[in-house]
Amino acid sequence: MSDCLFCRIVAGEVPATIVHQTETTVAFRDISPQAPTHVVLVPREHAPDAAALAAAAPGVLDALFLAAGEIAKAEGIAETGYRLLFNTGADAGQTVFHAHLHLLGGRPLGALA
Ligand code: 5GP
Repeated sequence: MSDCLFCRIVAGEVPATIVHQTETTVAFRDISPQAPTHVVLVPREHAPDAAALAAAAPGVLDALFLAAGEIAKAEGIAETGYRLLFNTGADAGQTVFHAHLHLLGGRPLGALA
């Protein structure tokens, strides 16, 4: 059994509210949402962070951003706006070392620090 939390969610071993799936990606609601819509999008195949994912499977990055746009439409925030971000490394606050794209929206988000 993998000790990677997001691998375990992808495998269905840890429950999560899945909102979107493709052949290469899975998206689920964040357990501690920072906005009315807070979805985490992950590649099915493990990569520790966005840079590693870009090196190993750049097409999956495309798939994650495409999925994020579809989820934003489904959530009704495509017109009002939303934020997409990868925390990469400890200083950025990355806590789960399986690459993941945050989709946040549904309220004014303010400027990034
Ligand atoms: P990071 O801080 O690494 O960029 O983002 C990790 C995200 O995963 C956090 O926003 C955190 O709330 C979320 N998270 C941590 N554990 C779980 C879990 O078991 N289920 C879900 N759905 N989200 C989780």
